[in-house]
Amino acid sequence: MSGEPQDCAGCGCGIGGTCARSPAGDDGLDEPRRAFLRGAAATAVTTLAAGVTLYSFGAEPAAGRGPDEKVNPKVRWGLLIDAGKCGDGCTACVTACQTENGWRDTGHPETDAQWIRKLTVKNPRNGATFSLPMMCQHCADAPCVDVCPTGASFKRADGIVLVDKHTCIGCRYCMMACPYKARSFIHEPLADQKPHAPRGKGTVESCTLCVHRVDDGRIPACVEACNDTAGKAMLFGDLNDPSSEIAKRVANYRTTRIRSDLGTDPGVYYRNI
Ligand code: SF4
Ligand code: SF4
Repeated sequence: MSGEPQDCAGCGCGIGGTCARSPAGDDGLDEPRRAFLRGAAATAVTTLAAGVTLYSFGAEPAAGRGPDEKVNPKVRWGLLIDAGKCGDGCTACVTACQTENGWRDTGHPETDAQWIRKLTVKNPRNGATFSLPMMCQHCADAPCVDVCPTGASFKRADGIVLVDKHTCIGCRYCMMACPYKARSFIHEPLADQKPHAPRGKGTVESCTLCVHRVDDGRIPACVEACNDTAGKAMLFGDLNDPSSEIAKRVANYRTTRIRSDLGTDPGVYYRNI
């Protein structure tokens, strides 16, 4: 199954019925049915979360979105990353993201796209180092959205921050505004793009939280790869659902959000940093 919304242009921008290119443009239709579907989705999340055990770290499924269903505003998708389980030198998450979304190193490290990267952080007090993945933090109060002059940079109701490639003019204001250096500008013509992850020379891009997978009831590729082949350091889920594994862990363990002092309200939490 493609996982692409059936009511949109099928470009994978993640906007669905509200996209300017959507032939439907119908997100105001049939609200009672949408409300019912939203409720059904929330119930599904709760039921699934109740069966999640500590052994399923990272494997919590998302609530699949129906083809004509609006993004659920009750959900806030997020990540919890345990740096204590993230292997120094392991790049399983990066490789999985490249494979899933079609970006790669081209031999120009200064300008190559980086949807996710591995960082090694050193504690200046004791010299201890740890490794962690860094990507778009899917900020609730996102500076990239605030500065975008065209509205191309936007936040979905479920907290996923995206770039609409159809309206991005490549001004790169968002790159300057992002405190996490999470965005990349595409300098070169591209070939072999993934249908679910449209890219284009002259536009800006960043981690989409694998929105095409999330809308299909799956977890992001980085989380899946870390869970299946590496340290099980990444957990994806609904931060707003108190019964979800991620919400329980955020509530019960000491966690950190990077540069939370900036007030961006990131959706990515870290442990053991
Ligand atoms: Fe925007 Fe950067 Fe925050 Fe992502 S991390 S939402 S690109 S400001
Ligand atoms: Fe908006 Fe594109 Fe400019 Fe970023 S580069 S601020 S997404 S128009």
